[in-house]
Amino acid sequence: MKSVCILGSTGSIGVSTLDVVRLNASNYKVVALTANKNIQLLKQQCVEFNPMFVVIPDADLAEQFERSIQQSELDGISVLSGKESLEFVCQLEIVDVVVAAIVGAAGLLPTLAAAKAGKVLLLANKEALVISGDLLMSAVSENGATLLPLDSEHNALFQCMPAAYRTGEPVKGLRRLILTASGGPFLHASDEELSRVTVEQACAHPNWSMGQKISIDSATMMNKGLEVIEASYLFSVDADDIDVLVHPQSIIHSMVDYIDGSVLAQLGNPDMRTPIAHALSWPDRQPSGVSALDFILHKQLSFEPPSIDKFPCLRLAYEALKAKGTATTILNAANEVAVDNFLNNKISFTDIPKLIEKTMERSEVKTVDSIATVLLADAEAREQATTCIGLIK
Ligand code: NDP
Repeated sequence: MKSVCILGSTGSIGVSTLDVVRLNASNYKVVALTANKNIQLLKQQCVEFNPMFVVIPDADLAEQFERSIQQSELDGISVLSGKESLEFVCQLEIVDVVVAAIVGAAGLLPTLAAAKAGKVLLLANKEALVISGDLLMSAVSENGATLLPLDSEHNALFQCMPAAYRTGEPVKGLRRLILTASGGPFLHASDEELSRVTVEQACAHPNWSMGQKISIDSATMMNKGLEVIEASYLFSVDADDIDVLVHPQSIIHSMVDYIDGSVLAQLGNPDMRTPIAHALSWPDRQPSGVSALDFILHKQLSFEPPSIDKFPCLRLAYEALKAKGTATTILNAANEVAVDNFLNNKISFTDIPKLIEKTMERSEVKTVDSIATVLLADAEAREQATTCIGLIK
């Protein structure tokens, strides 16, 4: 039986992870769950999975939650608050597997803590890797942790790697990685239509049901850009050897092109429970609840190149990856600020790449030598991006 800690259990990935755990209940013990705001759902999850610990970073909310479980069957659960408690639960001796499913930079330190504690780390929180790059990969290798990607594209690539392959190692005989992209809800939208996109339209992804931030990232194609960076670190592959291919049906989740002409692909219905089930049981297999792929239903799989002109976020991500150092930290921070401002109707959809580009132009890229450098670059880029809002109008 594996003991599991789920960071961000109330989010889209957290809920899907608990679906897979429910389906294979005899294989897992849920030790810790964490939430940010949704304490109602957290309580329901506690009733069903009876964890030893819950973490709610905000002290007032944690107190409210604690009061709500007093004198109930949940009374034995330890309720912790403070950001550092997220790191604490990842490092508990009893925890085997940490599912990193907090969204954005908030997930960085607990994800790093899990790697330093040598855990099996199931990574959904791509921003953590984009921000910290080599630091996270070194923490994994130096502490004997196992890093398994949950992102469907990277999980697909991992499944297409040679037997016994571990993330972080160079891949033998590789020509290129091909990351597939649905193209998001605005694949064929005109420039004029893009300038009028609303938050509701941007959040409505055609194939995947996801949290708000990643839905916006998918619509701008920054999600694919972040994934190119993620793939580069996970599989030790240069930016020039990672291609993006638009595949609107989201049936092929990504491909590995080898030097002998073989192309290996992983296919399946677009449902995050597949990569989650795979990574949770790796190297074995277990049911995920996802139905079998119906090839007759999906007679036509189509492909097209991405439009870099229409989706500049993809270009910006490649540029940041090639610039190295804190460039990807700056890109991520600017994107988080831009998405937040778009969600709050302060900037338009087409302002998102403009704000990121302006922030990148005005930020100094430094060599990454420590987590302190990364955290400083993140904070400075957020400040710079906020200042730049007035400059892109
Ligand atoms: P959601 O927005 O649905 O969930 C985010 C989770 O993080 C929630 O549990 C939320 O708590 C918690 N959270 C948010 N902010 C903080 C914070 N400051 N401190 C602590 N916890 C916080 O996101 P998703 O599940 O969609 O995505 C999670 C990660 O997985 C992202 O990095 C995303 O890019 C990645 N990913 C997601 C996929 C998907 O299909 N959804 C696919 C591939 C990768 P609460 O809800 O209680 O506020």
